[in-house]
Amino acid sequence: MEVEDIPENLLVVGGGYIGMELGTVYATLGSKVVLVEAVDTILAGADPDLARPVINYAKKAFKEVRLKTKVGKMSTVGKQIKVEFELDGQKKEELYDRVLVAVGRAPNSQDVGLENTKVTLDDKGFIKVNEKQQTSDPAIYAIGDIAGGVLLAHKASKEARIAVEVIAGEDSAFTGVTIPAVVFTDPELAWCGLTEAEAKEKGIEVQVSKFPWAASGRALSFDRPEGLTKLIIEPDTERVLGVGIVGYGAGELISEGVLAVEMGATAKDIALTVHPHPTLSETIMEAAEAFYGQATHTFAKRKREHQPA
Ligand SMILES: Cc1cc2nc3c(=O)[nH]c(=O)nc-3n(C[C@H](O)[C@H](O)[C@H](O)COP(=O)(O)OP(=O)(O)OC[C@H]3O[C@@H](n4cnc5c(N)ncnc54)[C@H](O)[C@@H]3O)c2cc1C
Repeated sequence: MEVEDIPENLLVVGGGYIGMELGTVYATLGSKVVLVEAVDTILAGADPDLARPVINYAKKAFKEVRLKTKVGKMSTVGKQIKVEFELDGQKKEELYDRVLVAVGRAPNSQDVGLENTKVTLDDKGFIKVNEKQQTSDPAIYAIGDIAGGVLLAHKASKEARIAVEVIAGEDSAFTGVTIPAVVFTDPELAWCGLTEAEAKEKGIEVQVSKFPWAASGRALSFDRPEGLTKLIIEPDTERVLGVGIVGYGAGELISEGVLAVEMGATAKDIALTVHPHPTLSETIMEAAEAFYGQATHTFAKRKREHQPA
């Protein structure tokens, strides 16, 4: 983050959110970015239909995106870095000015003297905590990345608040808390609650209602029609279990989704809430209206009868 020059040739290792965000930053600043990813998908945690516009952008803005490619070896050659790749059993060498390794983070739990306490770690080295952020040592609480789970700043802040409240004698706990994720690429990608992929993997029956931004006047007015807003809905109760948004400013829009999931809102609650026109927030309302086959700006086959409140 403290690099003083803009590298002409930058290799990004890892197609997770950090690799994609910083690859986007440096591509915008003028670097020729090559991104390599060992598996065959980019942004593996996100639903593929939401990740697609981000990947499409990267394919244009980056010099190259290479999937199923592993970095074998790296060594310095003068002021450059020689990188050896493995792709389909073939080896290839290239020179880069800088290499950004973004292949995951490990907890830094070994050097704070925890061995002198009753704190216990899991097999990856994260501190084990209960829902009150209490460790196995009654005198020690843990919050944030070191406590595992989703490694995001707003999760750390929420856990810190819970720990302080518990220490102050309140009955707080980290249960049922919805933690949104935002990928600050161009376009931005954001989601909260259940994803479609997760529902499929866990065998949870859901209905998905989508609103493409190509039908949003606001998205068209600043020429960003590539976005998509989707709701993951529990069929019987019509409760919104998850929200996913890709598009310009998705990180700002997702908070309405977080509120909906946290409050147990139904698709009807969102559909009946008047959203200002013309705004991107309307895409959330229209995705809910589409669930009932009643979106004004797009046709979607009715999934549920709409009973006005
Ligand atoms: C490149 C990058 C981009 C990210 N982008 C986002 C984002 O957009 N949104 C988001 O929500 N999250 C983002 N994250 C994750 C976010 O930074 C972390 O989730 C958050 O910082 C966790 O807070 P924390 O307090 O648990 O740990 P940290 O912020 O890591 O704070 C721990 C502190 O403890 C210090 N420390 C460590 N060991 C010792 C010791 N022995 N003695 C004293 N001090 C010590 C460290 O120096 C550090 O300052 C990003 C992370 C990275 C790496």
